[in-house]
Amino acid sequence: MKEKRVLVKFSGEALAGGSGFGIEPEILKYIAEEIKSLAVAGVQIGIVIGGGNIIRGVSASQGGIIGRTSGDYMGMLSTVINSIALREAIERVGLNVRVQSAIKMEAICETFIIGRAIRHMQKGRVVIFAAGTGNPFFTTDTAATLRAIEMESDMIIKATKVNGVYDKDPVKFSDAQLIGELSYDKALADDIKVMDDTAIALAKDNKLPIVVCNMFEPGNIAKIVVDEDLSGCSVVK
Ligand code: UDP
Repeated sequence: MKEKRVLVKFSGEALAGGSGFGIEPEILKYIAEEIKSLAVAGVQIGIVIGGGNIIRGVSASQGGIIGRTSGDYMGMLSTVINSIALREAIERVGLNVRVQSAIKMEAICETFIIGRAIRHMQKGRVVIFAAGTGNPFFTTDTAATLRAIEMESDMIIKATKVNGVYDKDPVKFSDAQLIGELSYDKALADDIKVMDDTAIALAKDNKLPIVVCNMFEPGNIAKIVVDEDLSGCSVVK
């Protein structure tokens, strides 16, 4: 049987829980358990975690003191902070983990080398890709899509607070319907917001399926990857 390999993208914001800022230990623990349920099933796992709970480049540059590129580097560094926290949490549930950063910081973690990352995954280690793409003007969604393609992942899972893509805003309309499957072109044309256009276009060019799911439904990620049950979530492909 072919080994399954997936890239799971968590937003930084999710880590903050209700407070909207910083890192909530209970959420780290929860994510670690979700990742463990994939690992025990033999799935090879890459993770990208955003930095929105600490700094986003666009917001940081809004006051006019910090330029956009500096703000973006600050944002990338915030993903490193989250990655280190997540590494600890995942190690505590008994898994081996490596963090690889797109920006060299050898006292803290490995530098991103795709061949090395793949070797880690083949040895059963979870790899967390930190510091985005290493370039300003990108998002961690794009970084996650890029890493998923580089590691020849079967899919990218965008783990969010919502179940998936709806035909209209589910907060405003009680009759909003979840869309089970949609094309990359439809996702781009409708500006679905679950991923930015750069990430969707990159996935489209490389035929990488994007699964959008609710990360706060326990067992959901394993259900998608291990059981191949995509009910209750959306796939862009
Ligand atoms: N960022 C960047 N280049 C990248 C990835 C991220 O400059 O390749 C910066 C950007 O400023 C972004 C911040 O890092 O706002 C945090 O990432 P993101 O906003 O994607 O985090 P999330 O929304 O997933 O929490």
